[in-house]
Amino acid sequence: MTKKDEILELLKRELIDYKNEEVTKILKAYDFADKAHQGQKRASGEEFITHPLWTATILAQMNVDYEMIIAALLHDVVEDTPVTMEELEKKFGKNVANLVNGVTKISKLKSGKKIAIKTETIRKMLLAMINDMKVIIIKFADKIHNMRTLQFLPPEKRKLIAQETLDIYAPLAGKMGMQQIKDQLEDLALRWIQPEVYKTIHSYFDRTEKDRERTKTLITRELTERLKSSDIPFKIKSRAKHYYSIYKKMKKYNKNIDEIFDLYGVRIITDTVENCYQIFGTIHSIWQPIPSRFRDFIAHPKKNGYRSLHTTVVLEKRKAVEIQIRTEEMEEFNEYGVASHWYYKKGELPDTSQLEWLSKLKDVHKEEMTPEEYYKILRDEILRDDIFIFSPKGDIFELPKGATAIDFAYKIHTEIGHRCKGARANGLIWPLNKPLKNGMVVEIITGKNPEPKQSWLSYAVTSQARKKIKSYFASIRKEEEKKEEEKIKVDQPKQIDSSLKIKTTEKPINSTMITVSIDGENNFLFNFAKCCAPTPGSEIIGFISRGRGIIIHRKDCHNLKYIKEFDKRAIEVIWAVKSNNKIYSFNIITSSQEDSLPMIGNVVQKYNGKIVKWSLNNNGKTEEGSFAVEFVSEPNISLFLKEIRKIPAIGHIEKI
Ligand code: MN
Repeated sequence: MTKKDEILELLKRELIDYKNEEVTKILKAYDFADKAHQGQKRASGEEFITHPLWTATILAQMNVDYEMIIAALLHDVVEDTPVTMEELEKKFGKNVANLVNGVTKISKLKSGKKIAIKTETIRKMLLAMINDMKVIIIKFADKIHNMRTLQFLPPEKRKLIAQETLDIYAPLAGKMGMQQIKDQLEDLALRWIQPEVYKTIHSYFDRTEKDRERTKTLITRELTERLKSSDIPFKIKSRAKHYYSIYKKMKKYNKNIDEIFDLYGVRIITDTVENCYQIFGTIHSIWQPIPSRFRDFIAHPKKNGYRSLHTTVVLEKRKAVEIQIRTEEMEEFNEYGVASHWYYKKGELPDTSQLEWLSKLKDVHKEEMTPEEYYKILRDEILRDDIFIFSPKGDIFELPKGATAIDFAYKIHTEIGHRCKGARANGLIWPLNKPLKNGMVVEIITGKNPEPKQSWLSYAVTSQARKKIKSYFASIRKEEEKKEEEKIKVDQPKQIDSSLKIKTTEKPINSTMITVSIDGENNFLFNFAKCCAPTPGSEIIGFISRGRGIIIHRKDCHNLKYIKEFDKRAIEVIWAVKSNNKIYSFNIITSSQEDSLPMIGNVVQKYNGKIVKWSLNNNGKTEEGSFAVEFVSEPNISLFLKEIRKIPAIGHIEKI
C-alpha cells in the first residue's frame, strides 16, 4: 500500500460519523486534488497529496463539517496547480471556494519582500477568518502537518516557521479556546526553537513514565474508594504537562526540569457541575491542598470560555500533583474551543461578537500600516495574553502582557500619558520601560506640563499609546516649523538693516564657489538664514531644521536665543571651497529599486561619479523619485542617460 493510500484509509476511518453523501463528496474532492497534484513532491520526497490528505484527516478527527474537509483536501490546488478558484466554485460550491481562498497564500506583492508577502498572507487569512472562523481552523490543521514535517526543510527555514507559529498561530488558537491545537503547535515549535530543552524534557518524561502511571493508579484507587457510596461517575485522564509550558516555567524560575514542581497532573471528568464541586471537596479531604493553587474557572470562566476547577495537592512528601475537574462538555469546549460545536454537531457557531480581541483585529484591519507594523501589533498586542492592572482607586484596566507604565498612563487618559513623569507599582518606584505584572496597583506620577519622550515609543507596546506619542510629536513639529517661519519673517527687515551697516564691504555669497561643510562632508541640504545672511569668513553655526535642511546662521545672530531647542539641534559648520565637481539630479521611474540601483551604480562609476542622493517611493506597480550624482568632471550627460535607459528595470529617466 502506498503512503497516500494508508493516509486515505485513516481519513476514511475518521469519516464514519459523516453522512454517506458527505463522504462521497469528500472522496470526489480527494480524487480531484490527487489528479491536480499529480507528479508534485513534498520536501520529504513523499507525494504532495499526502499533505492535503493529512490536513483533512486532522480536521476529520475534530469532526468538523464536511465542507471544511473538502476545502482541506483542495487547499493547495489553486496555489500550486493550474486549477482556478472559479473552477473550484463550479465543482464544489461557493462555501468550499471561499474557504480555500482564505487559506491560499498571496504569491505576488508590489514590494516583493518575503516578510511582506508572509505578513500579507496572514492579513488576508485573518480578514477571511473574521467572516468565517472555519478558515483559521483549516489553517491550523495545515500548520500542524507542516510543523510535523519541518525536519525536511532547510535548517534556517525551520526556525523562522517555528517562530511564526509561536508568534501568531499558537496564541491565536489560544484566543479561540482551542487548547489542544495550541499545545500541539507550541510543542512542535519548541522542538526547533530550543532543540536542547526539547530533548531534555522528552527524555525526562520517558524516564518517569512508570512513576506517572503509579500516581494515576493511586489517585484512582483512593477516589473510587471514597466516592463508592455517592454514585458519582468519573473517569481519570493522566496528563503530562505539555512541553512548552514546562519550558516556560523553567525559563521563568530559571530552574532545571527536576526542580519544577508539578510536571504532570490528572484530569477528572464527571457529569455535572455539582459533581465537579463534590469531587473537589472529596479530593481535599484525602490530600493536603496547596491553598494558593486553587482556581475556580467554573464560577469565573476564562475569556476564551475555558471552564474547570484546578487544585494542586500533596500526595506524599514533596510530590505535588495538579488536579483538574470538569464535565465532559467543558472538556470538549476546553480542548476544541470554537471548533467544539462541530464536535458535538449541535446548534450554530458560538457567538464571537463579544470577543474583544476579534473586534480589535477588525479595527486594525481598517487601518493602513506596513507589514512589519501589522505583524508587531498582532504579536505584541492582539494575540498577547492580557494582564489586569488596578489604579490606586481600584479601577481595573486590561492591557496586553508586556505592557509598561507608559501604556497604562495612555490607557487612562491621553493627558496622563503626555504628562507622565514616573510610576509607582504596589507602592514602589517602577521603571517606565519595565513590563507591569498582572494584578499590580499602579500609580502614574504626572508633571505639570506634557513632556513625552521619543524613547517612550520603544517602551510602549500598545498601538494606542504609540499613536498618541507619535501624534504629540507630529503636532510639536508643525508648531515649530510655523514658529521658525514666522520668526524669520518678523526679523528680516531689522536684520538686513544691521548687516548693511556693519558689513557693507563684504561681498555677497557666491554660492557656486563657496559652500559649508560638516565634518568634511558637504553633500547636505542647507540654506542660509535670511535674518543674518552669513557671508564667507564670518563665524557660522548650523541649525538642523525640520524639513528645510540645515539653516546656516551667523554665530552672533541675535535670533538664535529665540529658536526653540537651538542648543540641542545646533551643529558645527565651517566654510568650505566648493570643488569643481558637478552635481546633477535626475527624475526616475523604475519597476524595482533593487534591480536598478546596482546597475545605475555601475554606469555612474564608469562616468567617474558617485551617487549622493537616492530617494524613491513605492507607487503601486512602480517606484518613483529622484537621485543625484556628483561627477568629478563635466560628464556627457546625454551619453550617460542613454546608458541608463538601457537598464531593463528603468521605465523613465530625465535630468532635472
Ligand atoms: Mn498546505
